[in-house]
Formats: sequence, C-alpha cells, structure tokens
Amino acid sequence: MRQASKLIRQHILALLSDGQFHSGEAIAQQVRLSRTAVAGHITQLSDWGLDVFKVKGKGYRLDRGFSLLDADSIRKHLDGTNRAVVDVEAVLPSTNTEMKKRIANNREDLANGDVVLAEVQTAGRGRHGRSWLAPVGGSLTFSMYWSFPDGYQSMAGLSLLVGLAVCEGLKPFGVDDAQLKWPNDIYLQGRKLAGVLIEVEGQIGATTHSVIGVGLNVCMPDGQYDVGQPYSDVSSFLGHTPDRNALAASIIQSLWKMLPEFTQTGFGPFTPHWEALDLYADKRIVLQMGEKRFSGIDRGVDASGALLVETQDGITRFHGGEVSLRGQ
Ligand code: ATP
Repeated sequence: MRQASKLIRQHILALLSDGQFHSGEAIAQQVRLSRTAVAGHITQLSDWGLDVFKVKGKGYRLDRGFSLLDADSIRKHLDGTNRAVVDVEAVLPSTNTEMKKRIANNREDLANGDVVLAEVQTAGRGRHGRSWLAPVGGSLTFSMYWSFPDGYQSMAGLSLLVGLAVCEGLKPFGVDDAQLKWPNDIYLQGRKLAGVLIEVEGQIGATTHSVIGVGLNVCMPDGQYDVGQPYSDVSSFLGHTPDRNALAASIIQSLWKMLPEFTQTGFGPFTPHWEALDLYADKRIVLQMGEKRFSGIDRGVDASGALLVETQDGITRFHGGEVSLRGQ
C-alpha cells in the first residue's frame, strides 16, 4: 500500500477513535481530500474490521471508541530495565512478516525483546497458511524478536512458553482463567482468545532467529465477525475494555521476564505450569496430521513441549509442526 494512503487511514482512524460523530466534510477538511475519497478510505477500514457506521446528516461514528496504540504509552507501562525497542506501525501486512523482513535486512540492529505492533494487519497469518483476523482497534497484534545461540533445538516448546506468558500478562487485568490448547492457542471460556505464531530465520546449528507473533482479541465488533471458529475477547469477559497499551505492555513484560529463563533452561521447568492450564488435560482428543488422525487421552507435555497422548499401547509423543489438536 502506498505510504500516502497509510497516513490518511491512520489520520482518519485517529479522528474516529474518540467514538464521536465526525461529518464527512470535517474529516475531508482534516485530511485534505474530497468527501468521496474519505468515504473510500472508510470503506477500506470497515473491510479490515473497523466497526464504523454512518448516519445521514451526522457523519461517521464508531460503535465504541478505542485508544490508539502508542509506543510511548506502552513504554511508560514497562519497567525501564530492558532497552529493547517498542515500535508501533499503523498498517502492516502482518507483524511477523515485518519482523522477518527486519531480521533479513537489519539483523545487527535487532536486540532480544524488540517488538513491533500494528494497529491494522491486512494479511494476518495463523499456522499452515491460515489467516488471522484482527479487527481494527479491537485487537492486539505484535511480534517480538528473540535469538537462540544454541540453535533450533534449544527453542523446543517456545510456542507453549509464549502461551504461558500471554496468560501471565492477562492476569493483572482480571483475566485469570485463560487456558492453553497445545501447541499454540489461548482459550477463554472454551473459545479461542489468542493465537501464537512462531517463525524462524537462521540455519540449523547456528544461532536461530525467532519471530514470536501474538494475536489477541481485545474487543471484537458486535454482530457478524466470522473468524471461522468460536472466539472470545477480553472485553466481553471483563465487561469493559482495558487499555490496549497497558495490556500490550503487560504481555511484553511477561515475555521479557520468561524468555531469558527459557533460553537458559529450556521448557522443562515450565511444564507443570503449562499442564495446570491445559484445556484438554486428561480429556479425549484427536490429533490431525494431514489426512491422518490419532486419538487418545491428553496426558500433558514433556520437557521439549511435545504432547503426551495415552492410548492402550502406552504414551505417544507428538511434536508441534504439522499436528492440530481437537477435542472429542
Ligand atoms: P491449530 O490447532 O492447528 O493451531 P487453529 O484453528 O487454532 O488450529 P491457527 O493457525 O492457530 O489454527 O489459527 C488460525 C485459525 O484461527 C484460523 O483458521 C481461524 O479459524 C482462527 N482465527 C482467525 N482469526 C481469529 C481470531 N481473531 N480469533 C479467534 N480465532 C481466529
């Protein structure tokens, strides 16, 4: 997308974020465009999930106002000991794609814990090429850089660790019963609240450069917003919408706290903590690997983050990769 369009949409978003009516004329004056051009940009923002409605004679208004993501505000909520960079971009295809690009182009400039957040993701991704939908102003999408000097093997269990960190980061806001679905999802009241997408750059044997992507539903639009499966969001659970900057900071802080320990010890010491939050603990599950299915009882995870599934033949271990877990 052209930089000019990005800036205009960012400006319109900032105007509408107060939740008040803004006439097409007033917006047009602010962004120095025609009303027709403004209408076009607003249609695009609506297509990306912005809950905007138009009333004749009054103009445009959001169903609910929201606080724009702001790097300074996030910084204020973080303790000052980690010098990592916090960067907010208005529109990105996906924060993981952006961080991967930064690793490829400017790896020397990156430090562990650097993070990029996006107000709008136009091509958010899940695993296996699936898409992640993040309504504008109603979600948190960010990616963090972290390197593993001992290579790919030493990051086994990372997606599980990140799930734990997200749950920890949610607790100070009153969300204290989120659960985890192996290997990369966070659930609340049995519905999906957030997803984790880990991607890596780097060769086996050498330092592995990881991108830790998180998408979290904060306040989903009312009515039809079809993400393809049941979902939950923080604001319906709490009955109010928390400040997204404070929430982002809390999750970033818990990642900054847990990742150094994980890098030292691996996932092993975290297994009891993960198992305590396991959505399917001791339940019957089905694992899907392409066309193949495997069914058994979820018996937790091992020190590498592999899932332990019990059948009458004993315990079988499954590693993340191509496997998808479903309840039965
Ligand atoms: P797996 O068990 O293999 O991880 P998954 O369905 O959780 O399966 P992911 O790749 O983790 O898949 O996430 C992508 C999927 O999440 C999409 O296919 C869609 O069904 C769902 N999804 C997309 N956006 C959201 C959202 N905002 N909230 C909840 N779920 C979403």
